[in-house]
Amino acid sequence: MIVAADTAALMEKIDVMPRPLCLVPTMGALHEGHLALIHEARRVVGTTGTVAVSIFVNPIQFDRKEDLDKYPRPLSADLAACEAAGADLVFTPESGQMYHADHSITVSENRLSSFLCGASRPGHFSGVCTVVMKLFMLFRAQSAVFGKKDFQQLAIIKRMVRDLNVPIEIIGHATIREADGLAMSSRNVRLSPEQRADAPIIRRSLTAARDLLSLGERQAESILAAARHHLEKSQMLKIDYLSLVDAETLEPVATIRRPAILATACFYDTVRLIDHVELLP
Ligand code: AMP
Repeated sequence: MIVAADTAALMEKIDVMPRPLCLVPTMGALHEGHLALIHEARRVVGTTGTVAVSIFVNPIQFDRKEDLDKYPRPLSADLAACEAAGADLVFTPESGQMYHADHSITVSENRLSSFLCGASRPGHFSGVCTVVMKLFMLFRAQSAVFGKKDFQQLAIIKRMVRDLNVPIEIIGHATIREADGLAMSSRNVRLSPEQRADAPIIRRSLTAARDLLSLGERQAESILAAARHHLEKSQMLKIDYLSLVDAETLEPVATIRRPAILATACFYDTVRLIDHVELLP
């Protein structure tokens, strides 16, 4: 496995890496969810292609300084995990490597980003689009794998690729969960033992509300009320948002007639967790 710690080292290597190349962009603190993406990348490129992973805690996508400062960065464990998962190339730049002090160009998406996480984290998706576009240019990858856990991010990246004619295939991978249903996240390690024990209520609330759909309920208001009622049983979490949106446009819906998404973001103190379920009428 080759480790490139800066853009110059990456540029030196990238031309000689066998193609096709599939990229898995991450912020590190790797867990089973990330490893599933790496395995998917291997499946896509086959034994002779290149599986590339980037590990970069992208400062410009953080809306809260504390979240950036406290983001876990276990680099040597991450490199060992990449190696064990069969990655061929890992890119681990420092922030100064990725952004010139006077950088002045960003990529922004202006429709899908106005909902859900985009509404509660100003500038977040512009930071994501900018770094992902830079990674696509650096790696000149044929494909890239993203988790469906961050479904709004996946939708926005697909839109960016479509609207800017970026020559890359975007592959979505199912959410990997802990045995108790909690979606795996690098932020889970920041939960106290009590918060960690409470956190599966997020998934349970969403699936309980989804069950109403199979009983014939189509009104978003009733499904949202059920999910909120369930979430509010927790004494520890604070709801950031709870929304029911169209699966394609991400706009709020009143009556479910097409595939929709019930999505939430919740805080345990300063740790923000997201999850969602699909609602198929
Ligand atoms: P992150 O390191 O949080 O930026 O995530 C890097 C990639 O891993 C993104 O495409 C995420 O959607 C994906 N990812 C994170 N958690 C999970 C999970 N539990 N299951 C599947 N993919 C995930």
